[in-house]
Amino acid sequence: MLTYPHGYIDGQGREGELMRFKLPWIDMVKCDIAEHCGQCGAAESCPTGAFHVLQGPSDFEPDAPCRTAIDFELCKQCGDCAHACERGAVKMV
Ligand code: SF4
Ligand code: SF4
Repeated sequence: MLTYPHGYIDGQGREGELMRFKLPWIDMVKCDIAEHCGQCGAAESCPTGAFHVLQGPSDFEPDAPCRTAIDFELCKQCGDCAHACERGAVKMV
């Protein structure tokens, strides 16, 4: 049986649902963090710090832009970041 995040496909190719859960996803085209590299409502609303802003270039990534990121080990799938993002750039999928 093949499993994947939202369900499974059994030996006969039938689909079923194991459990339903969603994770936050960032639309990098809609997100304007690279333009202001500052306040992010989604990050500020995240209760665990999973949603955060990476401040851009570092010794390890000298060409990296300022960007938003999610630590999925900390994420508890509450959806607060998606509700808080004023540009609709964060979705639970
Ligand atoms: S609130 Fe949304 S659009 Fe604004 S910086 Fe955060 S993720 Fe990007
Ligand atoms: S779903 Fe909740 S815990 Fe996960 S990144 Fe968004 S606000 Fe943080």
